[in-house]
Amino acid sequence: MAALRIVMFGPPGAGKGTQAKRIAEVYGLPHISTGDIFRDHLSRGTELGGQVRQHLDAGRLVPDELTCSVVAGRLSEADCANGFILDGFPRSLPQAEMLGTHLAGQGHALDLVVNIDVPDEEIVERLSARRTCAVCGAIFNRKFDPPAGDGARCDRPGCSGELVQRKDDQEETIRERLSVYHETTEPIIEYYGNQSVLKSIAGSGATPDRVFADIRAILGAGKAG
Ligand code: AMP
Repeated sequence: MAALRIVMFGPPGAGKGTQAKRIAEVYGLPHISTGDIFRDHLSRGTELGGQVRQHLDAGRLVPDELTCSVVAGRLSEADCANGFILDGFPRSLPQAEMLGTHLAGQGHALDLVVNIDVPDEEIVERLSARRTCAVCGAIFNRKFDPPAGDGARCDRPGCSGELVQRKDDQEETIRERLSVYHETTEPIIEYYGNQSVLKSIAGSGATPDRVFADIRAILGAGKAG
């Protein structure tokens, strides 16, 4: 299969992580979530974890230089040679430009930027009800995609991890993350729109299966259709 270099784009809570996991599984690509990388460093108490903590807790962006160096390092690993799915990166114009330059240096370019469009009020409703498995990382929603059973534990085969709420999924922090999204991240849509790799999907009121079907239709239609 041809290499696929994909960016999942959209506001926090649009479903980027859920969809990225599914694409990664079906297409055999590494799923690179900058948020997951930062949270992993936080929980392991590394130096990087110490540098990003205050930004994550406040719902603000980690500085571009730091984020870009983490992503450039990850993209240089062997498993990214045949493509990748970036989830949560880029989140600013300088990050988008760094990604373009990094890929161009390897003779590559992005094939597809999937923009999942969801209005703010729906985001607040979704994120307040989001829960993540502390063991396997599976994402659930208490309202829209609850796990089987009493709702307190992961229902993935072989896992029964505790479901926890991310610290930054509390309403005040969600609103801050949304305002950062509109101010700093959303302008990237125009940047990619000009490069014709951007495909927008209506995520409002759509089930994860519906959104995934739309993404597969785009991928099935060939590189960026
Ligand atoms: P996420 O899991 O994608 O919602 O990211 C959680 C948090 O990690 C964000 O609110 C930021 O504080 C930080 N973060 C993740 N990705 C980036 C990025 N590309 N640039 C800067 N900060 C990021």
